[in-house]
Amino acid sequence: MNVRHQVPLAPLTTLGIGGSAETLVEYRDPGSFFDVVQLVHEHGGQPVALGGGSNVLASDAGCRGPVIHMTTCGITLREAPDGDGVLVTAEAGHPLQDLVETTVAECLTGIETLVGIPGTVGATPVQNVGAYGQEVGDTLVEVDAWDWQQNRAVTLDAAACRLGHRTSVFKHTARWTLLRVTLRLTRSKLSRPIDYRAVADHLGVAPGTRVLLDDAARAVLAVRRSKGMVLDPTDPDNRSAGSVFLSPQLDPPQAAALRARGIPLHDFSDGTTRVSSSWLIKDAGFTLGQQLAPGIRISSKQYTLIAEGPATSAAFAQATEVIATQVHRETGVLLRPELDLLGSESTYERLQIQ
Ligand SMILES: Cc1cc2nc3c(=O)[nH]c(=O)nc-3n(C[C@H](O)[C@H](O)[C@H](O)COP(=O)(O)OP(=O)(O)OC[C@H]3O[C@@H](n4cnc5c(N)ncnc54)[C@H](O)[C@@H]3O)c2cc1C
Repeated sequence: MNVRHQVPLAPLTTLGIGGSAETLVEYRDPGSFFDVVQLVHEHGGQPVALGGGSNVLASDAGCRGPVIHMTTCGITLREAPDGDGVLVTAEAGHPLQDLVETTVAECLTGIETLVGIPGTVGATPVQNVGAYGQEVGDTLVEVDAWDWQQNRAVTLDAAACRLGHRTSVFKHTARWTLLRVTLRLTRSKLSRPIDYRAVADHLGVAPGTRVLLDDAARAVLAVRRSKGMVLDPTDPDNRSAGSVFLSPQLDPPQAAALRARGIPLHDFSDGTTRVSSSWLIKDAGFTLGQQLAPGIRISSKQYTLIAEGPATSAAFAQATEVIATQVHRETGVLLRPELDLLGSESTYERLQIQ
């Protein structure tokens, strides 16, 4: 465990924005979380976890409560006692990319299309991370966590995590710090069926085909790269938090109106119909590369926000407001932010678009 004070948050986030954490506790040795708890109690304030910083906007005012930087690493594999697949447990700070690569190399299917998503394993249940037809909720068995409300270690099974579309019981609350995540994967050299058309097209197969795991992962990575959804330090669009807005759920009249405008919609297994926020932003008249606030512009590859130079969280919030207002005016659909705020309340309120 390592404790530092007045630590700039910007370098710890992919947007590269934000003030300082008054206290930053690095949790890097699995098993030593009681030391972290003791330290947090000594410092006081509501602790908040930080993984790879790829889904947060750190406030310009920084963070007064202790920030727990999750850097623990480790993966264990064991046959499931009931004989149904392999249980894969990863420490919360473990990079998701490495977990995906490890499971693909071990011929385990279930998370191969999550390749290329930045961040840590511990953050994946928070917003039920997903892409190209798979989400972590498909394979989640349980999480081990520290419950700051009950002040004890707990294990929550998948049902208790209440996973939904980019949400869970952990979203928008700092009550739990997730310490370990256990998934149930299936032994197979083949991927799950490739349902996503862009990935199937890249592979030259019909949607629904199963392909070699490695081929599936490489195809997803290629499609993600073409959309600027893989972080690359040499790319001018690198300072990104991925999708800034959730894919909004549509009621039937909204869905009919958007279909009539030729916007593709997605029907999900939970019965909801959603539209990608990128489509709405494009349809509302924004253009690639468009500057929206000082240091904040739309990416040159897709309709999400990018930071440049000495950008601020205030400017980022202003840009989200500009987009959400125009999208609402043009399409009648309300956009909600996907990313979380680290720090001051006021910017967070501005992100909850009116
Ligand atoms: C280029 C790019 C592409 C992306 N593509 C996708 C995608 O395809 N699909 C997708 O779902 N997401 C995507 N994301 C968003 C992001 O990568 C994921 O949400 C990821 O899981 C965040 O992990 P992180 O470790 O960086 O979390 P952070 O950004 O550090 O934290 C995110 C939230 O989780 C909380 N948190 C983090 N760790 C813990 C923990 N151990 N316990 C409790 N709370 C915790 C934080 O407090 C914060 O509220 C993308 C982001 C980028 C930049």
